[in-house]
Amino acid sequence: MVSRTDFRRYLWWTRSPWLLAVLNLLCVVGLCAVSAFMLWDMRRDAERRTTAAAQSLVQVLSRDIARSIGMYDLSLRAIVDGWRLPAVMNADPETRQLILFDRAANAENFGHTLVFDRIGTLIISSKTSSPEPLSYADREYFQYHTTHADPVLHVSVPLVSRLTGRWVLIISRRLSNPDGSFAGVVLGSIYLDYFRQLFAAIDPDHAGTVTLYGPGGTIVMREPFDEQLVGRSVSATDSYQRMLQTRQGVFTGPAMMGEGPRTFAVAQVGELPLQLSIALTAEDIYAAWWQKALVLAAVVLSLCATTVVLTTLFRRELSRRKAAQRATAALNAELQQLASTDALTGLSNRRRFDEVLERECRRAMRTGKPLSLLILDADYFKGFNDRYGHQQGDAALRLIAQAMQGSIHAYSDTAYRIGGEEFAVVLPDTGEAGAETAANRIRQAVLAQAMPHASSPHGLVTVSCGVAALPAGQNSDPIALVAAADAALYEAKRRGRNQVRISTSAERHFLVIEGAQQSRL
Ligand code: GH3
Ligand code: MG
Ligand code: MG
Repeated sequence: MVSRTDFRRYLWWTRSPWLLAVLNLLCVVGLCAVSAFMLWDMRRDAERRTTAAAQSLVQVLSRDIARSIGMYDLSLRAIVDGWRLPAVMNADPETRQLILFDRAANAENFGHTLVFDRIGTLIISSKTSSPEPLSYADREYFQYHTTHADPVLHVSVPLVSRLTGRWVLIISRRLSNPDGSFAGVVLGSIYLDYFRQLFAAIDPDHAGTVTLYGPGGTIVMREPFDEQLVGRSVSATDSYQRMLQTRQGVFTGPAMMGEGPRTFAVAQVGELPLQLSIALTAEDIYAAWWQKALVLAAVVLSLCATTVVLTTLFRRELSRRKAAQRATAALNAELQQLASTDALTGLSNRRRFDEVLERECRRAMRTGKPLSLLILDADYFKGFNDRYGHQQGDAALRLIAQAMQGSIHAYSDTAYRIGGEEFAVVLPDTGEAGAETAANRIRQAVLAQAMPHASSPHGLVTVSCGVAALPAGQNSDPIALVAAADAALYEAKRRGRNQVRISTSAERHFLVIEGAQQSRL
């Protein structure tokens, strides 16, 4: 089972301000990347849906127009057929009217159905049995039929009707004599209002401009409606030519009217020379998407900004805490240092001495390496104080400490002030001979400072030193080691001071016995 401490250890990274910042950055970048992908996908979807809707709309419209014109054409065909029957043509005008014009030809969206003779004079009208004999010989559709014997349905460009004054599209067929010679023309007129109503009935929310083109690229109808554009030709534009080639489908090209690119959904109206298109601007396609994109982008960006702000605040708080922890640790270290330092000499104090000696004794036993201890005491120091004053005494103690520091190996040996004018040096990995050398070096260094001491028979400040060495691998305890060094010091004092004495073998024996007893306990 994962303990609470383990769990906290696994979450170490949550305590690293920079790692948090990097993770936050990755999250923000990830969120932005996912959102960008979604927006891009939505954009493609908007394009797909809008063009598909436009395509199906042009197809429905083109079928509707083709069907209406086809129906009207049936009426024209009936007249072409009736024309060949002498009984019909010789009937009185009212009867002929009834036979030739069925109800479809009188439908609301269709205008006059007219018949012209071979010189273009109006001879029969669907609206009256006695039409005015106007001449239509100048009309393009009439001239077309005089020169074309083919039986196709001719569709004109948008015209203004001479009879009604309204915009119409003329569909016409040639009347032929039995020998095939030109006999006249029958025409039907479709009000452009029919297309206008048809386009106006489209869902008002549909996107784009719906346009119906007649022969030669003339605009027949446009939604939104603009009368100025009716009859204008766009045949010279690239997109019109492309529409003729495409017949049915979607392509992108420059606008036929106006500026900029358009997406065109186009459809051919049956086999007639009519084309339908829905031209979509980028705005038509992406308007709804833009709205969603802006909302989504705003939400994502505010989320990212909030995350960044919160992480920054959190990171700052974390940094502040870390700094506080560091400051506390530094303070603790300083306190520790102060607690283990002697204020007068700057050497480590008695407390530290006890700790280190204990630790070194254990280490010496564990590693089997030797360990030595020096205990030094200023000679006749009471007399020095009495003669030179306490302050001078303090200065002398500081100089003794300096002499000690300068005489030992700073990386391994450590010097301590363990009492008023008593000092100690712990010498790890050092045997008796090495310890004696070190002790004499210190003694000489103190002497070399030549501090006058009139109350001493030596005339200078001197120190006495007791040395105790723990033989390699022997069991011991610090108290016994100190006692042995003290005993050696006492011996040095007794023999006249300013000298180094080594713990005797008897004392060493005592040291080993003491150590053995301690370890049994
Ligand atoms: P011995 O050679 O036998 O050691 O003689 P001694 O006078 O040094 O012996 P003793 O231990 O009786 O005297 C120690 C003196 O050290 C007593 C005190 O006046 C002096 N002393 C202890 N601590 C300090 C200190 O912090 N500053 C000063 N100035 N003197 C101190
Ligand atoms: Mg003393
Ligand atoms: Mg002394």
